[in-house]
Amino acid sequence: MSALLPVFRGEVSRAPWRAEVVAPRAVRLSVTDRCDMACVYCRPAGSETWVSPRDRLDVDAWTSLVAALTAGGIRRVRITGGEPLLYRDLVHLVERLATLGLDDLALTTNGARLGSMARSLRAAGLRRVNVSLDSLDAPTFARMTRGGDLTRVRRGLDAACAAGFDEVKTNTVVLRGENDGELDAITQHVWSRGATPRFLELMGVGEGRVLGEGARVSSAAQRAALAHLLDDGDGAREAERGPAVYLRARDGSGRRVGFIAGATETFCEGCDRLRVTSDGVLRSCLARTSGVAVGAVLREGAEGDALRAAMRVAWSDKPDGAWRGCTEESAASVSMRATGG
Ligand code: SAM
Repeated sequence: MSALLPVFRGEVSRAPWRAEVVAPRAVRLSVTDRCDMACVYCRPAGSETWVSPRDRLDVDAWTSLVAALTAGGIRRVRITGGEPLLYRDLVHLVERLATLGLDDLALTTNGARLGSMARSLRAAGLRRVNVSLDSLDAPTFARMTRGGDLTRVRRGLDAACAAGFDEVKTNTVVLRGENDGELDAITQHVWSRGATPRFLELMGVGEGRVLGEGARVSSAAQRAALAHLLDDGDGAREAERGPAVYLRARDGSGRRVGFIAGATETFCEGCDRLRVTSDGVLRSCLARTSGVAVGAVLREGAEGDALRAAMRVAWSDKPDGAWRGCTEESAASVSMRATGG
């Protein structure tokens, strides 16, 4: 077996809150860096580089990796991308991961192919789905996603809601002058499907940095726009479910809206996530471009001990918890689709 290839750059700094999170508990897998949309805040308008087909991981490699991470303490897995529904063997991958005894197995998708895949993904053992839904206005949707077909995404969301997942949520990145007048309409639409809408601040990662702060609508402003629908108060995070803060509907229905303040707040504190890029690099943080490359050894049939060791090395690169709003310099050169949003 060849040696693991650490690709660290820069200093490793110790986080003051690390005592709380001594080991990673969650992982996001970017199973492919390919995507059939090109959202303006995610992908550059010009040329892009792609992971070579020979560096992609197959179902066996992903399953071996997740099995090793699970043995090392990981309990929750989210499959993302790129667009994970473009990964040819996705249903099979879900089937395999579902046998590993995880506490959670979830997927983030643009939803365009969910109309035909939601039921088989559910049957394969997928528990929860997040669908990105930036607008309910077809021209706005097409502009923000550079060509996305809203009709297909609406059909995909409806299929997910009908497929019996434990939970369906939507993600909307709010951009000034684009979809910032739609928060009420999106909330009502998603609630009417029995799902939970979430609104995201534009993060300064990759293309988000290029769009700049002028395009960002803060979570505070997003909450203000929905104040007539939601309880007052700070809201609450869900235990072991990432950085979103949820407020309940004023009408007592129990419905909720989530807000992810990825720019104006820090969510480093208590972060227990690792990420794996589509070519098998373990990264400790969305804003980091460094990591530990395990793709080659996985393809050669790496042993669990080596993979768990790689996980520990990757985790030791976790930033210091002082990151606020992707201000780390490295964030600007992160490709969201390769790292997995
Ligand atoms: N293709 C899938 C999708 O559309 O959901 C999964 C990958 S996508 C990178 C995951 C999530 O990241 C999406 O909800 C997307 O809106 C979000 N995202 C991408 N770039 C972002 C940015 N700069 N700021 C905030 N959210 C971003």
